[in-house]
Amino acid sequence: MKVICISCGHSLPLDKTYEDFEGLIRCYVCGALMEIKMSDGKLRGLNLPASSCEPRAETEHVNEGRV
Ligand SMILES: [Zn+2]
Repeated sequence: MKVICISCGHSLPLDKTYEDFEGLIRCYVCGALMEIKMSDGKLRGLNLPASSCEPRAETEHVNEGRV
């Protein structure tokens, strides 16, 4: 059973422990965390956990004190 890392594209081998699994796995190549959903040995869902890298809604305004 293999899962393709959505960050680097590397195929990650998963053993039988993951045939029924729902949770986070980490790519050993690039270190990206992925949320996977497996059932009956098939991949049902794969996405990046939303909380890990939330884009900032507000950009910081830096006032440069130019004279
Ligand atoms: Zn990866």
